[in-house]
Amino acid sequence: MSSEITVDSTSTGSPNAAPGAASVLELQDVKCAYGGVQAVNGISMKVAPGAFIGLIGPNGAGKTTLLDCVSGFNRAYSGKVFMNGREISRRQPHQIADLSLMRTFQVPRLFRHMTVLSNLMVAPQHQRGEGLLNSFFRRSWKEQELANLQRARETLAKFAITDVAENYASDLSGGQERIAELSRTIMSVPKVLLLDEPFAGVSPSNRLRLADHLSMLSVEMSVTVVMIEHRLEWVERLCHLIYVMAGGRLIAQGSMEDLRKNRQVLEAYLGEAPGAKTSEQ
Ligand code: ATP
Repeated sequence: MSSEITVDSTSTGSPNAAPGAASVLELQDVKCAYGGVQAVNGISMKVAPGAFIGLIGPNGAGKTTLLDCVSGFNRAYSGKVFMNGREISRRQPHQIADLSLMRTFQVPRLFRHMTVLSNLMVAPQHQRGEGLLNSFFRRSWKEQELANLQRARETLAKFAITDVAENYASDLSGGQERIAELSRTIMSVPKVLLLDEPFAGVSPSNRLRLADHLSMLSVEMSVTVVMIEHRLEWVERLCHLIYVMAGGRLIAQGSMEDLRKNRQVLEAYLGEAPGAKTSEQ
C-alpha cells in the first residue's frame, strides 16, 4: 500500500522553482525491508531543483533507509527512483554519484588512513591521472591536480578546518570528521546532496558556520538538498519544506509551524514534542 500522502515539493519546496517545474528527484512508491522489518513502506515524493528539504521523524522511522535507497546503498524491493527523469533505482552508488547525487552518512566515511587534505583531493570525479593514457602526459593531470589542491584548501578554509588539513582522518573529533566529510562531498560539485544528520557531533560554535555553508550551497550554488536532522531548530532555519516519516511512511509535510500543530506528528514522536531536541547539546 502506498503512503497516505504524496509529497510534492515541486510547487512549494523551493524558492528557485516555478510551480509545476520538473522534479530533480522523484520517488514512486518506494518500499524497502530488512527481513521482516518494513523500513520504508511506500514513499512517493517529488523534489524540485534547488529545494532544501528536511526529513524528520522518530528513531527507526526509515529516514536513513530511504536515503540509502535513493543513493544506491540499499535496494528498494519495489518502487522507482528517478533523477532528472532518469531511473536510477537499480544503479550502484558510484553510478549514481556520477550523476552528481552525493550523500553524507550518519557515521562519516572518510579514508581514515589518509590526511584530511588527501581525502578532499581524491573526491573530484573523472580525474585525468586515472586514465592510463593521460597519466603519460604529466602536464595534463598536473594542472588539474594543482587546481584541485587549491580548491581543497579553499574548501577547508571555508569550513574552518585548515588546522587539521594534514591530520589523519582517524585523528579527527566526531564534529571535525563530519565537516571534513561534507567538505569532501562538496569537492565533487554535487547537484543533489543527501545529508544524514549533518549537525550531530558538531560543536555548538561550528553549527552556525555549518548552517551558513549549507545555506550557501542551496542559495548560491542551487544544490538540491535533502537533510535528515534531529536538531529541529536547524531544520526550521534551513528547510523550505519538511517531511515527516514514521513507521516507514510519510505522515505529514509543511513548515515547522504547521507540523508543531499536527496531532499525527506529535503522536509519532510518542509524546516527545517535536521541539524536544532543539536545545543546544
Ligand atoms: P534514526 O533516526 O534512529 O537514524 P531512521 O529513521 O533513519 O532512524 P532507519 O535507520 O532507516 O530509521 O531504520 C528503519 C528501520 O529499519 C528500524 O526499525 C531499524 O531498526 C531497521 N533497520 C535499519 N537498518 C537495519 C539493518 N541493517 N538491518 C536490520 N534492520 C535495520
